[in-house]
Amino acid sequence: MSHEQEQDNPKALVVVSNRLPVTLQRSDTGQWEVHSSTGGLVTALVPLLGKRKGMWIGWPGILEETNVDKLLKVASQARGYILKPVILTPEEVNKHYFGFSNQIIWPLFHDLQSRCNFDPAYWSAYKAVNHKFAQTIIENTMADDFIWIQDYHLILVGRVLRSMGMDSKLGFFLHTPFPPPEMFIKLPWRSQIIEALLEYDLVGFQTLRDRNNFLHCIEAMLKGHHVDARRQLVTITSRRRETVVGSFPISIDFREFAQQAASKDVANATRQLRNAIPDRKIVLGVDRLDYSKGIPEKLRAFRNALKRFHEIRRKISLIQIVVPSREDIPEYKVLRAEIEGLVSEINGKFTTPGWIPVHYMFRSLPRTELLAYYRAADIALVTPLKDGMNLVSKEYCVARTDKDGVLILSEFAGAASQLHRDSLIVNPYDVEGVADAIVRAYHMSTDERQWRMRRLRKSIAKRDVFWWVSCFLQAAGFNS
Ligand code: UDP
Repeated sequence: MSHEQEQDNPKALVVVSNRLPVTLQRSDTGQWEVHSSTGGLVTALVPLLGKRKGMWIGWPGILEETNVDKLLKVASQARGYILKPVILTPEEVNKHYFGFSNQIIWPLFHDLQSRCNFDPAYWSAYKAVNHKFAQTIIENTMADDFIWIQDYHLILVGRVLRSMGMDSKLGFFLHTPFPPPEMFIKLPWRSQIIEALLEYDLVGFQTLRDRNNFLHCIEAMLKGHHVDARRQLVTITSRRRETVVGSFPISIDFREFAQQAASKDVANATRQLRNAIPDRKIVLGVDRLDYSKGIPEKLRAFRNALKRFHEIRRKISLIQIVVPSREDIPEYKVLRAEIEGLVSEINGKFTTPGWIPVHYMFRSLPRTELLAYYRAADIALVTPLKDGMNLVSKEYCVARTDKDGVLILSEFAGAASQLHRDSLIVNPYDVEGVADAIVRAYHMSTDERQWRMRRLRKSIAKRDVFWWVSCFLQAAGFNS
């Protein structure tokens, strides 16, 4: 690495995330194939990486012995930017990803401290894996590169890089929420985490709620720093450096999503779906299997609506799609059983010939099918107990190219800070309140549905994922 170069105008963009934006799969003939991942973040960053001699560093997602370096070298040539792997052992994945990341930071940052497993062995693995990532960064980047670390798996990377003498510009974006001080201080390693965040030049959060929680934690835990909060971007001056802190709500590629939603294939699939559930309003839930998504709470609210409002029986069905996730963690298995128990209880109690109250799917859907569900749904029921942003809520609105449909949204989703005016905002713990919102959405006039949806779509179109990337990079002083 060369440290002599000019620091003010970083040249290459280096993105670092736990997973590389590709998956490696064996074909039927046993050959390894490299497939690109989809998703807003990848769509937004890949053109920039191509343009700016970029690199993406991350775990390739396989534990099998194979020549990953060679495979990714070929894949990098085809993509126009470098894919650099960080190889992890099964134990590292177990204790860093399933352990510290997903049994400590994930629940704590979603205010669910009782679900944390503060195993000290997880902390050691977290440090070791963050160290491994830092080592790969230092070996493969130049002093004037801008290094953008993504998310809660890699908070310590900046600190390790600084301890190795790196003074490149470092940015960090947290995709999850950041908790308030009374929650954060439960973390046995709270000082190390908060101090590590101050090693970055720029720290981005999803919403002002998260940014302010972070500032309150700094206030409560650290001495000898100065906070200048007069502008949208806050500057924290600590003993070591100046860190700029801001909120940058992530989004999706509006144009691509709307175009796909309007395609013939999606229109046909939507028609088939509507024909399969005729004369009935469809309420849609799409959630990864995760306790932060509030799926059992949502099912209880739907049950409450059916119990209290007889007029909606036989006239409404909930389609709940649950995308499998983190099933190696026992709590996720328990959650799945709870959800399936509730679905079967509700259907057992209310089903009549020709009407199933809850259609339940436990699988991941291809994009066309997912878009058809979005388009067919009269109401989207998005009720996480807490969520960094929640892209499903945005995707639903964008897919409704006919500008109809009602979004019921949890006040604890990051998306609520942007969409609260035109969605029906609910407290996901309030079973009767959510049931009331379902009934209100059911009865809402076409006119009201349409003006709300028009405004929701407008707001999302204005701040798409390209806007998000350019705001973050601009705040970092990186000319994209
Ligand atoms: N999604 C998916 N497969 C599915 C259903 C949904 O990949 O079968 C996607 C969905 O399109 C969305 C993402 O999963 O982009 C979920 O993002 P969100 O921010 O709502 O929640 P997260 O799962 O990241 O916590």
